Amino acid sequence: MSPSGRPLEGQKALVTGASSGIGAAVAVALARAGAAVGVNYHSGSEAADAVVAQIRSVGGEALPVRADVSDEADVVRMYDAVHAAFGRIDIVVANAGLQKDAAIADMTLEQWRGVLDVNLTGQFLCVREAVRRFMAQDTTLVSRARGKIVCMSSVHQQIPWGGHANYAASKGGVTMLMQSVAQEVAGQGIRINNIAPGAIKTDINEDAWDTPEAREKLLKLIPYGRIGAPDDVARAAVWLVSDDADYVTGTTLFVDGGMSLYPAFRDNG
Ligand code: NAD
Repeated sequence: MSPSGRPLEGQKALVTGASSGIGAAVAVALARAGAAVGVNYHSGSEAADAVVAQIRSVGGEALPVRADVSDEADVVRMYDAVHAAFGRIDIVVANAGLQKDAAIADMTLEQWRGVLDVNLTGQFLCVREAVRRFMAQDTTLVSRARGKIVCMSSVHQQIPWGGHANYAASKGGVTMLMQSVAQEVAGQGIRINNIAPGAIKTDINEDAWDTPEAREKLLKLIPYGRIGAPDDVARAAVWLVSDDADYVTGTTLFVDGGMSLYPAFRDNG
């Protein structure tokens, strides 16, 4: 911990998909913890500008960066922009993701590829570029690790999800990507982990909480009895990239109020 008491003081971070939901909360939380933050957005800069303004209003450093994470050249440009502004990169939270839901019999190749391109290939491109940058820069005194990566996965990396086969397959893929990379680069001082959120109230799952009926159905799946907030995930991300988690790599931190505990079995013991 730095003398300021902020765990990420002096560190430089990049968060993808940071103009809304979980990514926005993570960006703000990393900044509160002392990091300068690249705030990636896909299109329309207004929401990213608002996140940047929120960070700057409390004395933090932030930079909006446009990029489609599924586009190789865009990803390289995004890292170049963050590196040019901050001089180095210590933390990457690969958070961008989307859903294109359909029953398997109706799922188009476009829906399949659209989700895999962003949720899995996008993670690959961001993780690969992070590792390249971490390896190319000197180690730092501000962190014990040479670099830290968090991949935003989902409870659906392990819970099958009918009607969302593309999404569940992408998140399962992220898990093996993360574990394989963790094994490969641990010796170079690079840590990489997943966060697997359960049901977090954001735009991506609005239809699961926007009516009382939908809410009640969703709460049956959450033993802890409440829908998660983006800040629940953001606090976990700050810990995972801090030195407090320095011996943690290749693992998944479930932030799900117990959703992955097979809640349907609660009363059948
Ligand atoms: P969200 O829709 O608010 O955020 C997703 C972000 O990704 C958006 O800002 C979007 O612009 C961005 N994005 C989409 N395609 C992109 C691209 N090609 N390039 C760059 N950015 C792109 O939803 P969220 O809930 O905040 O989702 C964030 C992550 O958390 C996703 O990976 C999602 O799968 C995961 N997740 C969410 C929940 C939940 O309950 N909300 C649960 C599990 C996992």
